[in-house]
Amino acid sequence: MKAGSLSVRQEPVRVVPDRTQTERTVPTARHHVQSKRNRLLLFVSLALTAGFLLTSLASYFVSRASLREQIVGHELPLTRDSVYSEVQRDLLQPIFLSSLMAHDTFVRDWVVDGEKDPDQMIRYLDEIQQKYGAFTSFFVSERTRLYYQTAGILKQVKETEERDRWYFRVREMKEPYEINVDPDMANDDAMTIFINYRVFDRQGNYIGATGVGLTVYAVRDILARYQKDYGCTVFFTDRQGHIVLRSSNSTLVGDDLADIPGLEEIAAEILAGPQHPLLYHSATEGTVHVNARYVAELGWNLVALQPEGGKVRGIQRALLANLGICAFITTIVLTFINMTLGSYQRRIERMATTDSLTGLHNRQAFDILYSTMAQDCRRRQVECALMLLDIDHFKAVNDTHGHLAGDAILRQVAGVTRSCIRASDILCRWGGEEFIVMLRDCPLADARRIAEEVREAIARVRVLHGGNEVQITVSGGLTPVDPAEDQDCALLRADQSLYRAKANGRNRVEEA
Ligand code: GH3
Ligand code: MG
Ligand code: MG
Repeated sequence: MKAGSLSVRQEPVRVVPDRTQTERTVPTARHHVQSKRNRLLLFVSLALTAGFLLTSLASYFVSRASLREQIVGHELPLTRDSVYSEVQRDLLQPIFLSSLMAHDTFVRDWVVDGEKDPDQMIRYLDEIQQKYGAFTSFFVSERTRLYYQTAGILKQVKETEERDRWYFRVREMKEPYEINVDPDMANDDAMTIFINYRVFDRQGNYIGATGVGLTVYAVRDILARYQKDYGCTVFFTDRQGHIVLRSSNSTLVGDDLADIPGLEEIAAEILAGPQHPLLYHSATEGTVHVNARYVAELGWNLVALQPEGGKVRGIQRALLANLGICAFITTIVLTFINMTLGSYQRRIERMATTDSLTGLHNRQAFDILYSTMAQDCRRRQVECALMLLDIDHFKAVNDTHGHLAGDAILRQVAGVTRSCIRASDILCRWGGEEFIVMLRDCPLADARRIAEEVREAIARVRVLHGGNEVQITVSGGLTPVDPAEDQDCALLRADQSLYRAKANGRNRVEEA
């Protein structure tokens, strides 16, 4: 054994720090720290959630606004304008053609000459029809009321006949022409858009009506193509909002603009010819953009409905994914903070309530543990006792063998004392070379026996230092505890007993 080194000779000594005791909670302080920790966690989670929500929602709204801008600024006018130009080609061309027919010198001369050769007119109508595609073409003479078309003379129009009403309407009207959707007698009653143009002779006398008919299918197919290609619904209404023409695959509900669910409130605005695209909310399609234009030549409103549909759903899905990721990150961050704080809290608690040399509770911890135990003893009506231990002539040990030897002895005394008492008893380092023990559920006679055991066990300890055996003794002051009394009263009695033990020669236990 080297000089100056220390060793313990006697076996029954257990110098491990007392975990059960050091980790026993110090309830009030812990609750206080716990509630602060919960407040911090709540604050962090609120801050993170608010931050994530704000950025996610901001990016959602920005994306949605730019999507709308794109629909309104690019797709919607494009759709509307291209529909318009196609309609112009397919619907306005027949108007132009009918106008040509109404002003054709052949037609005028043939009528003025007395409609002598019907074949001439029939050939003329046939040529028009052939040259400009699958139109039906017609002429009705005011003088003879005969209805000419490519297959021959169809009939003579009569004012009394329901189907011929159109002619008498055209005959009386102020405008040079009208557009009318009617079944075509010459074509198995297929729904046909007729352009009915009034014809005058050179003196300005009304001499009949001419024009072409276009099957509705052709126009409907144009509208259907738009529905398919752009996902937008295009249809025509008259000035009153009645839907006059819709695509062949139209899913529009009702016969009127105002019948379309969600659109009722802006129907009047649409008919007035809005300066800007409008919006409405449909239960099935979400937000729908509306554009409308009055086509003067037709006397109809062209209306285009473009739902935001899938594009916004994509942004909404991105928002949900964002929020999911944010919730995940928030959970991870909170768990990490909670674990870190928990471990720091435990460490700080341990440091604040534990004596680093012996691993026992310190004096601060004792104050809290004493009152908890006193309450427990009072509730269960059991006796308990308090014992104060003080190493004899410890100053001399330090002076003779050095502080390191003194420290080792303090650890030995802590270990030996702990080995003599129960786990439920409280052992603390009271200060310097003094220890305090609170014996739970322990009548004074038992306490006396335990105190003697502790004293004797410590007296048996030998610490080897520099080849010398260091031996120590302790003096003890014992007192029963009345759980109702103040802690200081019990302490004072224990201290007075200890004083007596010192005065009576040390290495003994006195009681009061
Ligand atoms: P008595 O028998 O009357 O109790 O005499 P004593 O010498 O034990 O009493 P005193 O109060 O005069 O001396 C206590 C000594 O304990 C003085 C101090 O240096 C020593 N001490 C206190 N804490 C420690 C410690 O942590 N380590 C060591 N090595 N010594 C300590
Ligand atoms: Mg002392
Ligand atoms: Mg002492």
